[in-house]
Amino acid sequence: MITSPAFAGKRYAILGLARSGLTAAEALLASGAEVTAWDRQDIAREKLANHARLADPLEIDLTGFDGVVVSPGVPLNNHPIVARAAHFGVPVIGDIELFALARPCLPEHKVVGITGTNGKSTTTALVTHILTEAGIPALMGGNIGLPILGQPPLPAGGVYVLELSSYQIDLTYSLDCDAAALLNITPDHLDRYDGFEAYAASKARLFAMQGAGNFAVFGTTDAPTHAVMEREATRRAPGRARALDMAAYAALQPAWPSLQGPHNLENAAAAIALVEELGVARAAWEPALASFVGLSHRMERVAEHDGVLYVNDSKATNTASAAPALAAWPADPQPRIHWIVGGLPKEDGLGECAAHLGNIAAAYTIGEAGPRFAELLDGRVPAVHRCEAMGAAVQDAMAHAQPGDVVLLSPACASFDQFRDYEKRGDCFRELVLALTGQIAYGSPAA
Ligand code: ADP
Repeated sequence: MITSPAFAGKRYAILGLARSGLTAAEALLASGAEVTAWDRQDIAREKLANHARLADPLEIDLTGFDGVVVSPGVPLNNHPIVARAAHFGVPVIGDIELFALARPCLPEHKVVGITGTNGKSTTTALVTHILTEAGIPALMGGNIGLPILGQPPLPAGGVYVLELSSYQIDLTYSLDCDAAALLNITPDHLDRYDGFEAYAASKARLFAMQGAGNFAVFGTTDAPTHAVMEREATRRAPGRARALDMAAYAALQPAWPSLQGPHNLENAAAAIALVEELGVARAAWEPALASFVGLSHRMERVAEHDGVLYVNDSKATNTASAAPALAAWPADPQPRIHWIVGGLPKEDGLGECAAHLGNIAAAYTIGEAGPRFAELLDGRVPAVHRCEAMGAAVQDAMAHAQPGDVVLLSPACASFDQFRDYEKRGDCFRELVLALTGQIAYGSPAA
């Protein structure tokens, strides 16, 4: 666990005791802070019953508190804690801010911050993998699902690699990343912001927090990202805020089995810029890109059966993240993708997916957004099957796919209409594929 003398004698309130909140409470208590914690579920509260004062920060006097720590799941645009904390002049912060405050007492280290609408987890895992392979102690944390404060501190010379969602950036004020990346900004999470501008401004703050001598790299695929880069370049020395260079590495990409598709070239180019900034030479990053094993639910190759490849890209929860998956198997000469699409809609329309419809052999629509996708795709792809449920979609796709084709779950929607989360949706797809193909896992000899 990461603790710090900086917290000794300080007073914090913690609202929400899921993973990151509970870890923050434990780290603060172990550091000698006075903690008042609350969760609306009594089971969650019980875990701290003998260690912290249990009281709802919405109901107590917050005078003299050093911060209210909330989870990134708390919507700052409409949650009453924001006005209440402001009334007492207490900042609302997250666990990443606590980490930033703990940094001066940690052994000498560097911090990498990675944000963007899509590609954060892949890039975070990739940077951590390259650093580890290069012999540099590295840990990943943040939005990737590992609370950073719960991990053992790194020895001197280590690198903390943080995946940061815009919600986490909104709760952070003093994180000065030694190197940071902004992959892209496309419409998402607009329920939590007053429009797209505010969402983009949230991402931009990660870079505004960096010292002028520190390094930042930016994606090249959208104008809002470019605008952040231009702003940052004006206050830094030449080269300290620069665009990533996909063209420089395109020829190497075929040797990276888990990093296929144009979006992964973007992620890899960002990762290379970040690790080079930390002193990793090409001789070390090149083999590490080849040995990287991708994360589950992101272009995960689940099985190959009768010459058909089954790919789980359940993490593609918006059209901007599904589009690169549709671009990854170009029509050659026939379209080859059997696209399972739908779920809880986030946008109306096909967004960036519209540019790749020529690669689709057939679409299989599921979930609440299914009928709308069917309407949008009818007449624009060779066949549309209205399946509703995942089981029917996998079965139908399997019946229609020819050798050389790809059955791709890349739903372009949230999962909550039919599944607990995108992981459960991807697991369901994987299990169905393995069951219907006779349990032949990818990489095993095809029957
Ligand atoms: P995040 O952590 O930002 O959600 P992931 O690495 O988990 O990103 O990838 C989420 C989804 O976005 C995957 O379905 C993947 O195919 C797609 N994706 C990954 N990288 C990018 C990128 N650079 N641009 C657009 N889409 C991407």
